[in-house]
Amino acid sequence: MLDVTPKEISERSALRINPLKTCQPVGAMYAALGVHNCMPHSHGSQGCCSYHRMFLTRHFKDPAIAASSSFTEGASVFGGGSNLKTAIKNIFDLYEPDIIAVHTTCLSETIGDDLVTYITDAKIPEGKIVVHANTPSYVGSHITGFSSMITGLIHYLSVNTGEKNGKLALFPGFVNPGDMREMKKLMTLMGVKYTMLPDTSGVMDSPMTGEYTMYPKGGTTIDDIKDLGNCELSLALGEITSTPPAESLKTKCKVPFATLPLPIGIELTDQYIMALNRFSKNEVPYIIEEERGQLVDILLDSHKYSQNKTVAIYGDPDTVLALAQFTLEMGMIPKYLVTGTPGKTFEAKANELFEKFGVEGCTAKGNADLFELHQWIKNDSVDLMIGGTHGKYVAKAEDIPLVRAGFPIVDRYVHSYLPLVGYKGAMRLAEMILNALMDRQDRDCADEDMEMIM
Ligand code: SF4
Repeated sequence: MLDVTPKEISERSALRINPLKTCQPVGAMYAALGVHNCMPHSHGSQGCCSYHRMFLTRHFKDPAIAASSSFTEGASVFGGGSNLKTAIKNIFDLYEPDIIAVHTTCLSETIGDDLVTYITDAKIPEGKIVVHANTPSYVGSHITGFSSMITGLIHYLSVNTGEKNGKLALFPGFVNPGDMREMKKLMTLMGVKYTMLPDTSGVMDSPMTGEYTMYPKGGTTIDDIKDLGNCELSLALGEITSTPPAESLKTKCKVPFATLPLPIGIELTDQYIMALNRFSKNEVPYIIEEERGQLVDILLDSHKYSQNKTVAIYGDPDTVLALAQFTLEMGMIPKYLVTGTPGKTFEAKANELFEKFGVEGCTAKGNADLFELHQWIKNDSVDLMIGGTHGKYVAKAEDIPLVRAGFPIVDRYVHSYLPLVGYKGAMRLAEMILNALMDRQDRDCADEDMEMIM
């Protein structure tokens, strides 16, 4: 497995091998799917759209609807204006969404299509809406596209009417529907009135009813997105992913914002709960305290199996950082942290984390790939890997247990329904991590060392 990956590391400036990111439109499509009755639309040639739908469907094991402007060579040279106008008409006629959320591909970005003019000139039926976000694939990653689509929705729709609605605007970050459900559960328990954007719960984890529904029950409603402008405060979870939409809501509608890391593990969930407490002024109910106490109990019971175990974590920046903090809370050493998403913040935040927990010999790298992580592991291995499916080849090649967490996970089921966030999510994560480490101990120990009770 991966036999040609050499141990010797050479400086690479142009060659990318086994990337840890995908392109912007995937994220934009996912964000648009978190809007109720919304058809995501890919303005470019249709190969991108098919690929992005497939990418999401393979992770969520649910349909990911989207339409395409289906560029031909002519449109690629002379512009895709008529393609978009025809598409808008056909989509409203055939699929009857309330809103179309258009994103771009590298093709339409490279030729410089002017989406604002195209949308202004398009015939949009009464009461229907078309919004857009520019998502050039050669900038950033799917995380950037996710962020840009939320910003686009705010830009087109949110209004400050001057009458506050008493709500918290929550930007959940690039997480699964299971995480969004957990974030909402905690807000409800804390008595917080909220609007979450996007909200893919009830869309990308919709139930089997025997009848296909193009627009499932979930998703943030258009009215709620408009009303975001009247929120008291916005809370951006996952600073790298969610700060841009929170900033745009502040600029457009003067809604102040606070940022927090993704609430994974004890301290980061504490921060989330305390932010909700400050917002609602409500006491933390016992049920949340109980969950926290159970988590602490689990970590105390099991720490001898996790203490000082080294781990490599890869994936999306906010997810990797929050997972790293949780592994540190478990007494582990996050020796390698890598993300494919470019940007300096990731490395700076990772280094702050290493310093805070006083761990040495750990490395973090943004804009990196799995090939490089594999080389680091070849030179100095780890006890565990945590990340998406693409890492399973490295895990197999180096015989390292792998805990699947993050995006994309295309070779397992159920994961997107259950949370990683909140105390409950951390319990689940702790179980997965401990099971992987303890299964390895059982497999590797001498017969006479096999423990019945662990
Ligand atoms: S990188 Fe560009 S061409 Fe490739 S799938 Fe993404 S948008 Fe399409």
